[in-house]
Amino acid sequence: MEAVCSECEAKIIVPDDAIVGEIVECAECGTEYEVAAITEVGVTLKKAEAVKEDWGE
Ligand SMILES: [Zn+2]
Repeated sequence: MEAVCSECEAKIIVPDDAIVGEIVECAECGTEYEVAAITEVGVTLKKAEAVKEDWGE
């Protein structure tokens, strides 16, 4: 399955066996998404609210 990152519009590959609640990460920008829904037409992601590690900006 595939989704599009809302941050950088990169394609995010979601494993076919992913489940709702699973965390996936954009390979391009590192934004974490939670699988919100899986339907026949695709996968819906929402941004994970998890505490991010501070990369030392
Ligand atoms: Zn991204």
